Amino acid sequence: MGESRVLSRAEALELGPGWRHACHALLYAPCPGRLFGRVPLRHAVLMQMRFDGQLGFPGGFVDPRDSSLEAGLSRELREELGSGAAPLSLAEGDHLGARFAETPQRLVAHFYAKRLSLEQLRALEEGATKAADHGLEVLGLVRVPLYTLRDGVGGLPTFLSNSFVASARQQLLQALGALGLVPEAELRRADAVSRKGL
Ligand code: AMP
Ligand code: MN
Repeated sequence: MGESRVLSRAEALELGPGWRHACHALLYAPCPGRLFGRVPLRHAVLMQMRFDGQLGFPGGFVDPRDSSLEAGLSRELREELGSGAAPLSLAEGDHLGARFAETPQRLVAHFYAKRLSLEQLRALEEGATKAADHGLEVLGLVRVPLYTLRDGVGGLPTFLSNSFVASARQQLLQALGALGLVPEAELRRADAVSRKGL
C-alpha cells in the first residue's frame, strides 16, 4: 500500500463500490515537559502496539452499518481506546489524506489527526486499559519520541526503525511534518538514519 498517491476524502469516496474503507487517527497534544530536564518533548503523539506486533494508529475498518467514515472511526476509537474516546468527535475537517491499495484486497486507508489538550490525552491513556480491545487487538498505547538524542540515533530515528502496519510509518512522517510537530529537516534526517539500519 505504502507508496501510493494520497487522495482527498472526496476523491477516495469516488472510487466507488468494491473498495473497503478503513480509518485511523493520530491524536496529539502539546507537551511542555523535558526529558532529563533538558530535551524538549514537544508534543505527546499516540500510537499503539497491535496484536500483530506492529505499531499502528487507533482505528479500523468502516462497516456498511456506519453512517459515515467518521462514525466508523468513532466506533473503532471507542472499541480500542475505551469510553474516554466518545467525546473526541473527529470530523471531515480532520481528514489528512487517504491511501489506496489493490492487494491483498481493495482497501482505502483514511488518515485523520486531532489535537487534544494534554489533560484530555492523559485521561485517554488512563482509561485505555478498560477498552474492549485492550489485551486483544491493542496491546498498549505508546507515545512517539519526537526528539533525537545527542548520539543522533536515539529517539525518533530508533522509533522509526520499528515495524509499522501498512502505511502507518508514512502517515506518521506526513503528519509530523504537516502539523509542524517536528521541523522538516530533522524529520528527513530521522527518516534517513532509520532506513540506513542505524
Ligand atoms: P485494523 O482493523 O486497525 O487492523 O485496520 C484495518 C485495515 O487497515 C488492515 O487491513 C490494516 O492492514 C490496515 N491498517 C491498519 N492500520 C493502518 C494504518 N495506520 N494505516 C493504513 N492502514 C492501516
Ligand atoms: Mn484497529
